Amino acid sequence: MRLLVTGGAGYVGSVCAARLVESGHEVTVVDDLSTGHADAVPAGTRFVQGDIGEVAGTLLAEGFDGVLHFAAKSLVGESMVDPAKYWQGNVVTSLKLLDAIKEHGTPRLVFSSTAATYGEPKEVPIQETAPTSPTNTYGASKLAIDHAMTSYAAAHGLAAVSLRYFNVAGAYGQFGERHATETHLIPLVLQVALGQREQIQVFGDDWPTEDGTCVRDYIHVVDLADAHLLALEHATAGEHRIFNLGNGTGFSVQQVIETCRTVTGHPIPAKISPRRAGDPAVLIAASDRAREDLGWKPQRADLAGIVADAWEFTKARTN
Ligand code: UDP
Repeated sequence: MRLLVTGGAGYVGSVCAARLVESGHEVTVVDDLSTGHADAVPAGTRFVQGDIGEVAGTLLAEGFDGVLHFAAKSLVGESMVDPAKYWQGNVVTSLKLLDAIKEHGTPRLVFSSTAATYGEPKEVPIQETAPTSPTNTYGASKLAIDHAMTSYAAAHGLAAVSLRYFNVAGAYGQFGERHATETHLIPLVLQVALGQREQIQVFGDDWPTEDGTCVRDYIHVVDLADAHLLALEHATAGEHRIFNLGNGTGFSVQQVIETCRTVTGHPIPAKISPRRAGDPAVLIAASDRAREDLGWKPQRADLAGIVADAWEFTKARTN
């Protein structure tokens, strides 16, 4: 297929673009490099630097079989202090993209949605049928785009798929997580192992979980990317389908740190700190729908393996 990948210079977008090229697809990456990196754009793709809202129309006029839309603002904390950046950068930009898709009759759209659309879950594991009540602007902006996709699919025949990511981690060779402002647990812990940071702060040890620290469902970025390839194949005209992507297993912050100690051989000092606002205690995906409807089978569910891939990537970048 001829595919447009927005945000293909970012973490998940670059891994997915690389897998798409390997699978024989013709890929154009568009990215404004606001948070992505030009050297993360995979070889074998065509790269266009620009604002998606501005360039999507011109690009899609060339005729594409589908769009994979990764480009987004994605910092939860920032979304609470600068909401305009999220409503403009995520919602307004995506609406422009949807209009370009409609105008040029692009048949498919696969979108990076998030577990943050659910907010504090009433039941764990979280099903796609769970109520959506985001606790932060980031999640609300992604949910707004999900809703817009439902309408465009129904009204204009778009084959739309939203993939709701849980905690993405790991790396794919040279493609990995490298944010200027790092907020995610595993890369921060690995920075401690590298000596770039003195200790890791554990945000609360008084949560209602077995060891008192928050529990998350960590999914390998390659398993996640591969779900996008399946979503493209299974997208159906006029339907908007939503799938959770996680392994269905939870690991606590303490367990993640312990795994990082084992993988890196570094003591990784940790300090119990106050809870972080907006953190749910436990987020675990029910991903039966993706397994049944897309035939998705995560191949890299082992946490130590996920951390080991992230560690290889992190070490290589500092050499
Ligand atoms: N976390 C932590 N210390 C950190 C960063 C994260 O204890 O320096 C915790 C955070 O409270 C959450 C888990 O690690 O329970 C995963 O956080 P992350 O930001 O990686 O992903 P999120 O679940 O917020 O999407």
